[in-house]
Parts: sequence; structure tokens; C-alpha cells
Amino acid sequence: MSRLRDWVRGDREDGKKEEPKPGETTAEHFAAFKDECQRWIKYFGLTEWEVVFAHEDVDDHTRADITTTQSARIAKIRLSKNWSNNPDGILCEQTVRKSAFHEVCELLLSEINLIASCRFGYDEIDLEAAKHAIIRRLENTLFKGVIP
Ligand SMILES: [Zn+2]
Repeated sequence: MSRLRDWVRGDREDGKKEEPKPGETTAEHFAAFKDECQRWIKYFGLTEWEVVFAHEDVDDHTRADITTTQSARIAKIRLSKNWSNNPDGILCEQTVRKSAFHEVCELLLSEINLIASCRFGYDEIDLEAAKHAIIRRLENTLFKGVIP
């Protein structure tokens, strides 16, 4: 059982559904997001993690994010409700699924990222850039189904 319950946009106490605004992710987007995360978690064999999902307001320029508690192996992956401020934020199921893949790659690299960030004199910008270089490669190959 998850420690956090999924929160689904559109659910109201009176049971009526709210219409999503342009640039807002829907309950259907969130379902696709979770499905894609679970698919790649299984693919990479990240079975040591307890992963919970949330559909929340994240900061204005973030489509999704992940926070991890390494010592307890708990990860929280969030899909942002609002994509309207993302410069390249084309909102459709495929971009939501790509964001899910991205966050699972962040999970895959999370421990080495933590170890590297604890090194004396490390440069946070360089570390983020190196991590995202790997993730972009995976997006442009594995996620797209590129076969050599
Ligand atoms: Zn990232």
C-alpha cells in the first residue's frame, strides 16, 4: 500500500468533474504518466524502490519531478498540473509519457548522482549537465525505440 494516496485532478468532493484548462494535465494524462513510469521501472528492474505518484502543482517551469529518500529507498514522482509556462511544453500523451521516462531515468541515476554531489568541490551545474546528457541519449534512443 502506498504511503501517499494518488490525487487526481478533476475529483471534487461532490463527485462532479472539473473541466481542465488549456495547458493543464488531466486525470488521463496522470494515468498515462503512472503507466509509463511503471513500465520503465519494470524494464530497468528498479525493484528496490517504493515509488509513489502525485499529480500536484509543481513550480512554473517543471513538467514533472522526482524526490528520493535514498536511505529508505522511497521515491516520489510528481506530474505537474500546469504545463502552460513550459516554453516547449506541448501537452499531449506522448510528451507526458516522455516526461515519465525522464523521471525514471532520474531514479536510475539517483544514487550515483547523490554520491557525486557529496564530493568536495563538485560543480552542481556540471553534474546536472552530465546527468541530463545521459538522460537525453536514453530519450533519443531507448524511449524512441531506436534499434541499432
Ligand atoms: Zn531531469
